[in-house]
Amino acid sequence: MSTTPLPLYTPAQRRALAEAKLDAFFAGMPAALRAEVMGLPERIARMNAGTQVKLKEVLRTADRIFAHAAQFAACTRGCGHCCHVHVPIADFEAHYIAHHTGRAARLIRHSIPHDRMDYSSKTPCTFLRDGECSIYPFRPLTCRMHLNFDVDAHWCLHENWNHPDAAIPRPDIGPLMQAYALLGGKSPVMADIRDFFPAAN
Ligand code: SF4
Ligand code: SF4
Repeated sequence: MSTTPLPLYTPAQRRALAEAKLDAFFAGMPAALRAEVMGLPERIARMNAGTQVKLKEVLRTADRIFAHAAQFAACTRGCGHCCHVHVPIADFEAHYIAHHTGRAARLIRHSIPHDRMDYSSKTPCTFLRDGECSIYPFRPLTCRMHLNFDVDAHWCLHENWNHPDAAIPRPDIGPLMQAYALLGGKSPVMADIRDFFPAAN
């Protein structure tokens, strides 16, 4: 049986299509969601609650953004190339995952810097199972915002990472990151998710 070949796009065509989608994403954002996103840092700063409750609020807003973005993004369930790259999380997020999954997080006292080349198709995230996230409701903020507004996952493939034209177009949601930054105090410990949760031997 013959199959229809996927359409091929030049890098310039990809960029143009992605820019149009990014414009449509921002223009089409419902007013209530826009207000929720813009007011998030202030809401978090004023919340009389612990870090875990505040993190839940940040993740809830991220999920609402993700739901709106789904119609524009190339991301699909089971498309897990981004589960093989560096997945930076803060210690408070590791605690959140540990609390909700029952999986113990390693105690890390100092941030562990990583280069994007530290990981490859051979080093998936600890929580990737059969191509899907096994902690989906509790996955980190960075995973929720791994949105690719390209026409497909082309630049997410490991073999394309180092191409000079490689660029994954994604929306920049400043207030979300500002709110996340408020959660960790002056110096949160940052490391890769695999540092906090090493793969079982
Ligand atoms: S960011 Fe890339 S690899 Fe991850 S789900 Fe989206 S298209 Fe797939
Ligand atoms: S936590 Fe889940 S979504 Fe995030 S990298 Fe790991 S498997 Fe992928």
